[in-house]
Amino acid sequence: MNAMLIDGKAVAQSVRREVAAEIESWRAAGGPRPGLATVLVGDDPASAVYVGGKQRACIEVGIEGFAYDLPAEATQAEVQQVLSQLNADDRVSGILLQLPTPAHIDGSHLTTLIDASKDVDGLTPLSAGLLAKGMPGLRPCTPAGVVELLRRYDVAVEGAEAVIIGRSDLVGKPLAALLLAENATVTVCHSRTRELRAVCRRADVLIAAVGRPKMIAGDWVKPGATVIDVGINRTDDGLVGDVDFVAAAQVAGLITPVPGGVGPMTIAMLLRNTLSAARAAHAPLATDRPPTG
Ligand code: NAP
Repeated sequence: MNAMLIDGKAVAQSVRREVAAEIESWRAAGGPRPGLATVLVGDDPASAVYVGGKQRACIEVGIEGFAYDLPAEATQAEVQQVLSQLNADDRVSGILLQLPTPAHIDGSHLTTLIDASKDVDGLTPLSAGLLAKGMPGLRPCTPAGVVELLRRYDVAVEGAEAVIIGRSDLVGKPLAALLLAENATVTVCHSRTRELRAVCRRADVLIAAVGRPKMIAGDWVKPGATVIDVGINRTDDGLVGDVDFVAAAQVAGLITPVPGGVGPMTIAMLLRNTLSAARAAHAPLATDRPPTG
């Protein structure tokens, strides 16, 4: 392997420590304890594991967790009622509706009902619009985690050719906006992109968010490029990314592993967003911000 490994686990731990320290000083200055409400509908085991991990991470950094676990038979109106209660609850700084929801529930519509000031997943239309306009707001956690990894490893993004494979609302599109804001030259690829390999080979920063195990072969990577693998695919060989790691690591300059790359950053950025939401809700108490007006 020629590439240097990007250790997402270690970076995520530092972000979590930083958030914990910031919460401590925020509370010492009289700020209220930030709170994160998770809303889980049904009994999908993978979703329960994700939500449990988020709740545990909250406790570790000093965020109060509120877990709303609703049965699989819960109706759309019932979930809506929970979200509107949480929107009005001052103890709750951030709300996370775990997706996917059961088939009879319209999760994407419910997401739109979350108050943008509590949208710690950054997925409401208002948050997406603020990001597109380059205005302050809560950013989606996984793309924000990718940008944080690039920053911490001093990857030169300004003026660089960044190629993203995948255009989902969850990863590809918001990541394109974030990298554009960092002054990268951004290309977004998808299932209809022609000459995908050739486009990828142009990339100084290549990001795969597709959901296809080991799709990105070694000869898709420009020598010395930074390769970020967002993909998480469960296979008979365990968890693998969208990148053929062994082959790509021969060519890349920097590369994320799966697991242990982007994955741990998602929860770390969720914690950071929850703290930001709590601060914004109590802006007059913030001691680290210049006065406005
Ligand atoms: P998604 O909504 O299914 O989007 C996949 C994207 O890949 C789509 O834009 C699709 O193109 C594109 N695509 C599919 N096949 C392709 C092909 N053969 N060539 C080029 N593009 C192709 O997936 P997602 O939610 O963005 O997630 C992507 C991956 O990231 C998944 O493995 C997911 O598990 C993982 N993920 C990881 C984290 C984390 O915390 N690490 C968080 C979120 C997601 P079209 O738009 O044309 O269909």
